[in-house]
Formats: sequence, C-alpha cells, structure tokens
Amino acid sequence: MSKKQKKMLVRILISAVMLIGLNLIPVAGLLRMALYLAAYLIIGYDILKKAGKGILNGRVFDENFLMAVATVGAIALAVYEKSGDYNEAIAVMLFYQIGELFQSYAVGKSRKNISALMDIRPDYANIECDGSLEQVDPDEVAVGSIIVVQPGEKVPIDGIITEGTASLNTGALTGESLPREVTVGDEIISGCINMSGVLKIQTTKEFGESTVSKILELVEDSGSRKSKSEDFISKFARVYTPAVCISALLLAVLPPLVSLLLGNPAGWAAWIYRALTFLVISCPCALVISIPLSFFAGIGGASKEGILIKGSNYMETLSQTKIVVFDKTGTLTQGVFEVNGIHHNELEDAKLLEYAALAECASSHPISKSLQRAYGKEIDRNRVTDIEEISGHGLTATVDGVSVAAGNTKLMEQLGIPYADCHCVGTIIHIAIDGTYAGHIVISDIEKPNAKEAIAALKKAGVKQTVMLTGDAKQVAEKVAADLGVDAVHSELLPADKVSEVEKLLADKPLKAKLAFVGDGINDAPVLSRADIGIAMGAMGSDAAIEAADVVLMDDDPMKIAKGIKISRKCLSIVYQNIVFALVIKFACLGLGALGIANMWFAIFADVGVMIIAVLNAIRALRVHKL
Ligand code: ADP
Ligand code: MG
Repeated sequence: MSKKQKKMLVRILISAVMLIGLNLIPVAGLLRMALYLAAYLIIGYDILKKAGKGILNGRVFDENFLMAVATVGAIALAVYEKSGDYNEAIAVMLFYQIGELFQSYAVGKSRKNISALMDIRPDYANIECDGSLEQVDPDEVAVGSIIVVQPGEKVPIDGIITEGTASLNTGALTGESLPREVTVGDEIISGCINMSGVLKIQTTKEFGESTVSKILELVEDSGSRKSKSEDFISKFARVYTPAVCISALLLAVLPPLVSLLLGNPAGWAAWIYRALTFLVISCPCALVISIPLSFFAGIGGASKEGILIKGSNYMETLSQTKIVVFDKTGTLTQGVFEVNGIHHNELEDAKLLEYAALAECASSHPISKSLQRAYGKEIDRNRVTDIEEISGHGLTATVDGVSVAAGNTKLMEQLGIPYADCHCVGTIIHIAIDGTYAGHIVISDIEKPNAKEAIAALKKAGVKQTVMLTGDAKQVAEKVAADLGVDAVHSELLPADKVSEVEKLLADKPLKAKLAFVGDGINDAPVLSRADIGIAMGAMGSDAAIEAADVVLMDDDPMKIAKGIKISRKCLSIVYQNIVFALVIKFACLGLGALGIANMWFAIFADVGVMIIAVLNAIRALRVHKL
C-alpha cells in the first residue's frame, strides 16, 4: 500500500468508528450535528475539494461533483426535515471511498505486476578495468566497449560475443522458456539473462538504442494511444454526466410540481431524495476504470508472450484482422540463405563470391549477410567504395577499383547487361564486373520450421485470407507459397509494388475486416505503415521496421501472429463484457432509483460491486499464456 492509500484507510476507519459511535452513544443538539459533520468532512473533504476545483475549471460534471451534490443534498434534506438522520450521507461517502481505495489498490497492484513482468531494465553494466570488474551505469557505456556479463546477470546492452559461451534465458523478451545457447561471434540482445558462463560482449549499440530500452519505451508509451472503445467511454462520459444531472433535476422538480397542480401536497423531500439517490447511482466509475485497465492488462499479457502491442488502438485493430499479408524473406523463411551453386564465365568460384561479398559489405539484407557468411573471411571495408543499394533490385559498388553489380534480373536489365538464365530453382544473384556479366550465385532459403503451422493457426483463428508478397523470383515464391498453404502469392515486386498490392487488397475488403502486414522491415517498411496494422519481426527486423510497426514479435516466430490475434480478441471481449455489464446494471439501478425503489445504500453497494467485478474481470486479460 502506498502512503496515500494508508492515509485513506485511516480516514475510513476514523469516520466509520465515529459513525458507529454516534449511533450507539446518544448525543443531542448542536454537538450531535457538529460531530456528524466532522465525520462527514473527515471522509469526504477531498471529494468536496475536487468537486469545487472541477466547477472552477469548467469541468463540472464528474463523479466528484455527483458525490458532492448527492451527499451535501442528503445532509441538507436531513436538516430541512429535522429528521437528524445524517447517517446516509456519511455512509455513502464512506463506501464510495472504500471503493476508490480498493480500486486504486487493485489498479496499482496490477500495474506493478505488469511492470514486474516487464522487469527487464538492467541496472548496471560490468566493465573490466585492470583485471577487476567495475559496475557502471549502462547509459555511460560507449558503442564498441567490451562489457562482461556474469551468470545470473541481465545482458544490459546489445552486442556481439567476443569471449565465452553461455545459455541464455530469453523468457522476458520472447515468452520462450527453453534456454538458448550462444557462443563467440553470436549477436546478443539486451534483456536476456545469462544463466551459465561468463560472457564478454562488444557492444554494438548505445543503451538508449538497445533492445531493452526500445521495448520499455514501447510499453510505456502504449497507454497514450487510445482505442475506439476508450474514445467511446470519454465521449460517453461527456454526454452521460450532464444528462444524468438534468434528469436528476427534473426528477426533483417535475413530479412535485405536477402534484401541486393536481391539488395534492408536493412531497418535495421524497422526490429530492430520489433525485439525490439517482445521482449517487449514476457514477460511471466502473466503466471509466476497467476499460483502460483491461487494455493495459492485455498489452502486459501479450508482452509476456513476446508480442509487443504498441497501443490499445492496435489491440482493437488486431482483434478484427481478417486478412494477413506476409513478406517472404525473413518472415516466412529464415532469411539465412545457403549458397547452392556458383556459375561463372572466367573467374574462379572464390573470386566471384569475394566480389559479391565485398560489394554487399554494408547491406543489411538477409541475402547480403548470407553471402558474407559464405565468403567466410574478414571483410576489409576499405576495399569497397561507392556502395549504392537499389531496393528490390540489388546493389552496385566499387571493389578494388572495379565496379561490381550484384542483384536480380531486374538489376541487370536496368544496367543494360545481358545475363545468362539459370535453370536452378532458387534465388539467383547475378553479378556483373566492370559492366560485363561475370556469372551468378544460386542461393536458397529455408522455410521457418513452423511457418506452415502458423498459416494453419491463422486460418483456425478466423483469418479469411493469407497472401504472400515478395521481391524474389516467381519460381521460388510459388514453391514456398504452395509448401506453406498461403492462399495467394505475388512475386518479383519492388517495395512500391508491395504497397500497391496492399492498397488493392485494402480497397477490396469489407470495411470491418482489417488487414495486417507482417514483415521484417527490410524493403517493406512503407507497407508496414500502410497496412491497417503492421507486424514486424523484432529479432531479425531492422530498427526501421520496429519503428514503423504497430506490433513487434520479439522472437520472429510466425506462430505468434495467430496468438497475438487471439490475445487481442480475448482482451476486446473483456472490454465489451465490462462495458455491457456496467451499463446494464447502471441503467437498471437508475430506473429503480427514479422509481424510489432503490435508496442510497443500495446505490452505493451496486456501484462498488460493479466496479470490483469489472476490475477483476479486467485482470483476466493478463492471463493469455494458454491461448
Ligand atoms: P522479399 O520480398 O523476399 O523480402 P526483397 O524485396 O527484400 O525481397 O528483395 C527482392 C529481391 O531483390 C531479392 O530476392 C534479390 O533478388 C534482390 N535484392 C534485394 N536486395 C539485394 C541485395 N542486397 N543483394 C542482392 N540482391 C538483392
Ligand atoms: Mg524482405
């Protein structure tokens, strides 16, 4: 419990004891009145203050206003009727505050739980200094420094392992419980926990740019993007509260006037009491609290599974996904190409590969990384100049003073270089040296082991259509699509063509069905932002993709797409349950209040009860592991 919550608890106890005492010990006259008033002010002074501030700031109709008017009204009524029954006003305030306390405790606790799950922020980094380790703020570690991560410690900054082997627990990032073995040369991302050996890591990013920082930023910002349901609530409140206040006023004034006109006694007190009860009942607390909490819990639950959803609006869109469009390389396939063959004119195999690998030295395309790996030797970047990457085509560069072009047939056509067709099925990288065709390298990619399952899972989750878009050759694309069971495939697309394909799909679909694009961001960041919802592969994906995307899959596992959709559906159904539940009970109670069947006691119990149930229901959104 926080200090504020403790203070509130003390106020609740004092006021409750006073209330009971005043009912047991008979005190009369002015003293009695003063003591009741004291009990009322102890429990309610902050509400009165907030209501006053609200009026001064022009925000009249909020729940503080409702509570203040209702309870002050009840006291005034008791004075007017000389009944001396102030119990009700105090009790109503008391229960309201108990409800508020419970809610702030529950909300605080679930927020804390969610943050604890996300407890991936490293507190320090170890730097070796004259043979001993020194702990420094991760923020102070420069790119390229060597840091040491001991068993049991979190990896604070992204980097490459230079010494040691270890098994890593990536659970906090991916929801994956199996440890991952890493060794010298492997890339390592921050937020993993080192479970065994001592690792030395050369950092490749600053702390602020590292994976952990990015994730924390995303999750912390996620609350600021409001969904339609949340928007609905704030619009609703803007209409609802004034409407309730006007209804209460009419309830207080109209029936007595009618009664007077008919020649009967007005019965002011009874109707004013009903109007006040009506105000107490009308507090929309349950709604106002439980909706954002449901979204927050859903986002927290998803992130525990390695699915980062950047805001509740995306949660809502994701739940309506009916079309999923994929990029091929790195999304459905591993993006780790093997060299299958090298066909050439005069050069030797090794020389052709060397030119290709050198020319590709600065590209982050999976093809380029694969060629560099196949080459296997240290690349001296000083030998390469004038690198120009043409997305969807390939690239040109100057290596050792000669110009090299490496890419697909489109690139060769663009450069006006006649090329030899290859009979092999695979991705073919044509290479021209000094403007003449030198040969090609045939490479092939493997499908992700669970890609097929992932497509099937999407179908099962109610996705109507799956489409694959790729810049790769037709033969390769069609083989992969057939293997995986994707409904449609479009190949040999440039990044701009991918956008127009997605636009066609967007134009053809019904408005309510949403389209998701899943990619690694290499050559497809524009599509990621164009789709209704962009899903990026976070581990393999480029930083641009993670920025452009609305949902990031931490471990690049395509199975997580269906899982994310299911999580979002559960979250949204909880949101709707809460909206409907709260509104139905609210309107029923309002009706009973207006008819004089429900009194203030009943009203406050109904309100606190609805709120507790709605908050507990919201917390269910956190439990998504088994979906
Ligand atoms: P995908 O849609 O499968 O992710 P891209 O749009 O990234 O494919 O690339 C399409 C094609 O462009 C590749 O199959 C390759 O032929 C060529 N290409 C793109 N970048 C490069 C590169 N750096 N080196 C060689 N070829 C490339
Ligand atoms: Mg790609």
